[in-house]
Amino acid sequence: MKFTPETYNIPDIPMQPFIDANEIDAIIEHTVSTPEAVRAVIAKSLSKKRLSLRETAILINTNDPVLVAEIKEGAKELKKRIYGNRIVLFAPLYIGNKCSNNCTYCGFRASNADAKRVTLTDDEIVHEIESLEDHGQKRLILVYGEHALYNPEYIAHTVKLAYSVKKNHGEIRRVNINAAPLDIEGFKIVKEANIGTFQVFQETYHPEAYKTYHLRGKKADYGYRLTALDRAQEAGIDDVGIGALFGLYDWRFEVMALVRHTNHLEACYNVGPHTISFPRVKDASMLGMGEKYFVNDEDFAKIVAILRLAVPYTGMILTAREPVQVRNELLQYGVSQIDGGTKLELGSYAKKDISEQDLNKGQFRINDSRTLHEIISELIDQNMLPSFCTACYRLGRTGEHFMEFSVPGFIKRFCTPNAILTLAEYLADYGQEPNITKGRALIDKELDALEDRTIVIEIKKRIEEINNGKRDLYF
Ligand code: SAM
Ligand code: SF4
Repeated sequence: MKFTPETYNIPDIPMQPFIDANEIDAIIEHTVSTPEAVRAVIAKSLSKKRLSLRETAILINTNDPVLVAEIKEGAKELKKRIYGNRIVLFAPLYIGNKCSNNCTYCGFRASNADAKRVTLTDDEIVHEIESLEDHGQKRLILVYGEHALYNPEYIAHTVKLAYSVKKNHGEIRRVNINAAPLDIEGFKIVKEANIGTFQVFQETYHPEAYKTYHLRGKKADYGYRLTALDRAQEAGIDDVGIGALFGLYDWRFEVMALVRHTNHLEACYNVGPHTISFPRVKDASMLGMGEKYFVNDEDFAKIVAILRLAVPYTGMILTAREPVQVRNELLQYGVSQIDGGTKLELGSYAKKDISEQDLNKGQFRINDSRTLHEIISELIDQNMLPSFCTACYRLGRTGEHFMEFSVPGFIKRFCTPNAILTLAEYLADYGQEPNITKGRALIDKELDALEDRTIVIEIKKRIEEINNGKRDLYF
């Protein structure tokens, strides 16, 4: 028997969305930020507790440069104390840019007649992935426009295809997705393909502002998008990523809404978002968007630091939309994942010489065009430990960010050793000088810093095995 509201004689009451714009506005407006309150909130976060909306508002409402500096210091400290110096690396792969929506800020919008519409063929996907593997990539995020062609079966097919491509020692070990919201059945289909994180960004959480940017197509439905990850959870996908596109509306509202969304996921499913993304709108080949809500670099750093403190257990992603100096600065405030060697034009990884980005084939302009090799070199120079680790999700240790954060010794037992092993593997297969020398020196330094000598012996043994040709070793 199919249960419907009529079965119980309950009127079909429209559900209230869990974002209440008036509530968020009122909290921002009525929360007073004193130095004592700011310091107490930072201390709470450093004791590994997630912040409430009011506590987040205390940080948001702080404009005193001294206190803002303390917020950033707090985020830095939290990152150092809890996560150490690892940075996880990945690459985005755009599968198709056909789109039936009309998001005014996006180069893929249906009304953009200049966009060259491309959907990679299976052969092209294989070539792209071979090329990514040739550079040492192990983790991908596949990106799709919203189009009838990119249905759940197709998404699942491309994920399986990505996992199947093996070139020399190369293989993709984790495939995340950034695609349009699906229904529960659709999410079940993509889950079967063994996806990592399913990301859906709300773009702006403000319902009125949302309407002005999403003029047609399925994405015009704010509520359907807002509840996307609830449907993912219902379908058994507990690894979800949320995000807001900064620049569409007041950043204070968006930060509060991201925390509210986090509360909602925790309350309903007992697991918060695996990752939070905070892209800033970048110039696509787009029609004049106002700059009213443009987020400057200073506020952007504050946003990242506040999010780090507000949700201490979540992974934080910063992409090549941002220029090198912004990326380098924000790594310190809690960013834990970055893309490297990114190319946004469809089909461009497999092409040798692309110097100028063709905006009509990409979604927006990227501002960090360093190769993966260059990024790894700079990370090492900054004493960061590049990681391609995929161990937790493959061993079924889901909610890994939460474990890193909450299980004592987890990082020293699993994350650092696995980061070291994946770096050793990268250096053996794809390393070039000076990265090989610098990378090995970094590994030695990391090993020296580990107190548990039994683990060190175990790691050294595995590095030896890697040097003798074994691959994919992890704890
Ligand atoms: N079509 C799917 C969707 O809209 O969710 C997934 C792909 S969409 C290309 C991925 C994300 O890119 C969007 O959620 C949006 O946040 C971001 N994006 C779109 N236009 C952008 C721009 N001009 N600058 C920066 N990010 C942008
Ligand atoms: Fe399409 Fe996504 Fe771009 Fe909107 S953001 S136009 S849905 S690809």
